[in-house]
Amino acid sequence: MDWHLRSLVLLVLFAAFGLGSAQAQPAIQPTVDITKVPVAAQPSAHFNADAATEAYMAMIPPEATARSNAYFEGGYWLLLWDFLCGSAICLLLLNLRWSAKMRDLAERITQPVSAVCLQFLKQVLPEKWHALAEYITRFRWLQDAIYWVQYLVLTSVLGFPLGFYEDYVREHKYGLATQSFWPWMGDQGKDMLIGLIIGALAVMLLFAIVRKLTRSWWVWGALALTGLSVVQVAIYPVYILPLYNKVTRLSDPTITTPILSMAHANGISTNDVYQVDASRQTKKMSANVSGFANTMRITLNDNLLSRGSSEEIQAVMGHEMGHYVLNHIPKSLFFDLVVNVVVFSCLFWGLQVFLKRWGEHWQIRGVGDTAVLPLVILLAGIVYFVLTPVLNTEIRIHEKEADMFGLNAARQPDGFAQAAIHLSEYRKMRPGKWEERIFFDHPSGYDRIHSSMVWKGENLELFEAPEKQLPEPPPAH
Ligand SMILES: [Zn+2]
Repeated sequence: MDWHLRSLVLLVLFAAFGLGSAQAQPAIQPTVDITKVPVAAQPSAHFNADAATEAYMAMIPPEATARSNAYFEGGYWLLLWDFLCGSAICLLLLNLRWSAKMRDLAERITQPVSAVCLQFLKQVLPEKWHALAEYITRFRWLQDAIYWVQYLVLTSVLGFPLGFYEDYVREHKYGLATQSFWPWMGDQGKDMLIGLIIGALAVMLLFAIVRKLTRSWWVWGALALTGLSVVQVAIYPVYILPLYNKVTRLSDPTITTPILSMAHANGISTNDVYQVDASRQTKKMSANVSGFANTMRITLNDNLLSRGSSEEIQAVMGHEMGHYVLNHIPKSLFFDLVVNVVVFSCLFWGLQVFLKRWGEHWQIRGVGDTAVLPLVILLAGIVYFVLTPVLNTEIRIHEKEADMFGLNAARQPDGFAQAAIHLSEYRKMRPGKWEERIFFDHPSGYDRIHSSMVWKGENLELFEAPEKQLPEPPPAH
């Protein structure tokens, strides 16, 4: 088995340094001023939404379109590679029996302490508490946590080459990343720490449910996992995001006044909009709604603030407020619950089938044995991979709703067209119909500009026609 380990380490090093030498290219910016409304998109008696859309699309240089298409289409392949690489790692852990060995180690660490603690507790506690003492000092929960630490570290090392290529090399190659290697590694370390804590809690909770409720764990497990997602979403903007980035209240009144006015007009009783220094990691422009219940808030990234016109910022904020007012986060969490029930019911059936056939070979004792985790991740990964178009479509429907809400709230169709052009730096503008349905979790850039121009065409009275150029008066005699 040693040669496996050695060749894996070599592969990791080779991939990391081989790919690391890729050349970075700066992003291609539009050569025209995108805040100047093109002639075909200006209000007139013969305003045509299709022609106005094409006029905006023509502002993007063809080289920029080619580049962002390549970047975005590369993402389709990465979906496949991520899935295959993740599955291969799971199969490796099962077939080399590394998973069983990690479980054995967790047991060896806890067993001696367990016996001593149980003896102590039985002496101290009255007899009716002995069952509880036995439960706690069997340390199954601690074994689960120790197994999880080993699992996360090992899979992170094995998955490093692909993750490094995807998040670091490729982002630099397309001129989208701003972070050098060590700060990037620092963020990876934080990911790992958060994964250790939240993952250990999830593994302890889920395995306790599986062991206790042997027939109905697929329902309770799905509920528990969704509950954890709710907690994670709620703590994210307040406790997790600030670990990576500086989050501040936006204070510039020229930006906040129109935004807050729009918020109040749409029933959002906040006086705060937040800003995050995303330029620490990326050049991508974005904004989002995050949090749950009391922590729900709108955050703009500093790339949008520094490069977007005020019309564009208002258009984007109108979109984000749409997510807020239309309760997209609670709706998505409910959708997650449905998906989780589907995944867990597939697991309930799949785990039995696979363990019956290969359980002994993998040295896994049953569904309640932590060593089964790679099989769980493998099977869940297959279901999520197959469901990709469904998951993307659920998000895309919300995004389309937010687009329409944003146009009505902000009344900035040209600002929204500018945003779509800025987003074209990393998103494909004009996909095929099925390509959009399968891979897109947002409406395409073309669709967004077109919706904006249709909206503008139906609301032309809101926009003043540019002053007609009067003919030069005839020279005086
Ligand atoms: Zn959105």
